[in-house]
Order: sequence, then C-alpha cells, then structure tokens
Amino acid sequence: MVDPRFDSPHHAVLGRATWLIQTNDLVEDVTENGSRIRRFNRLDLHLNSCYAILNKQCFNNALPGIPVYWAEHIDIQPDHLHSNAVYVPGDSVIKDPYIAIDDCLAGKYPLDQLCLLHEMVHVRIGPEFDHGEVFIAEFKRALDANKWEVMGCIDAPRFSSAPNSG
Ligand SMILES: [Zn+2]
Repeated sequence: MVDPRFDSPHHAVLGRATWLIQTNDLVEDVTENGSRIRRFNRLDLHLNSCYAILNKQCFNNALPGIPVYWAEHIDIQPDHLHSNAVYVPGDSVIKDPYIAIDDCLAGKYPLDQLCLLHEMVHVRIGPEFDHGEVFIAEFKRALDANKWEVMGCIDAPRFSSAPNSG
C-alpha cells in the first residue's frame, strides 16, 4: 500500500515536518523493480565515515565512493521484504547508486556496521550475485580483514600480518 504522505512515486519529498524530519527531508525512491526506499536525503557523516574506513580496511579502497543514507523504511520487491539495509546499484529509474540502512539500527553498534559491510560486499561483487558462494566467500574475506569486529568480536586477539614466530 502506498504511503499517503507520498503522492508521487519518485523522489516524493515529505511536505509536513514532524520532530523527526525538521532537519532531514525524506525522499522515497521506487526502483525499476518496485522496491521502495524511504530515506533521509541528508548524508550522515558517521555512516559515510564508516564506509570510508571499511573500504580502506576491508577492500583496499577498491570500492567506489557511494553515499550511505539512513532509511525510515526499506521495502524490497518482489516479496515486500522489510530489509534492514539495501544496496541500490542504480537502474533506469534511480540513476545514482547508494546504500541505505534502516535508522532503527542507528547507535546499535556493531549491527549498523555489520549491515553496512554486508551491503559493501554487494557493491564489491556486483548486483548480479545474491547471497550464494561468491557472496559468502567475499563476506568471509572482508570479515577477516575487519577482524570480525562487526560480528561483535571487539575483544578478539589482534591478527598479525607477521609470521607467527612462536
Ligand atoms: Zn544482501
């Protein structure tokens, strides 16, 4: 069902401010396949810093600079799945790629980082792959590079790149 606050299917800007959006206009993107992402239009400094840090740490800065937004709601087609995060690779309707993360995860470290890294793996392998072997292998590699901190292993022993002498 279409949210009545949005009267246009693409980039409908919410006209009525509430406390939540006084400084953050909402936009709703509807992708070519009908997925709907209702997101804040302002780049979040923390999320985008995390993207840059993970890009360096896990991908040797190989990923393109892709903006990351907080989302109010992510509805993925074809099954109307409510998703915690999404990588929108860009299509004929939504031209510029971005990542959106549900704002229910704001401040929920490391879950926000885990979802971000998940979407960055999608960026790395490309939208043609889902969650099969290619995804799993790349996610595992990225987790190792991150020392599994996004899995909550923040007290794990540090990996060493030096050969183990003992
Ligand atoms: Zn995924």
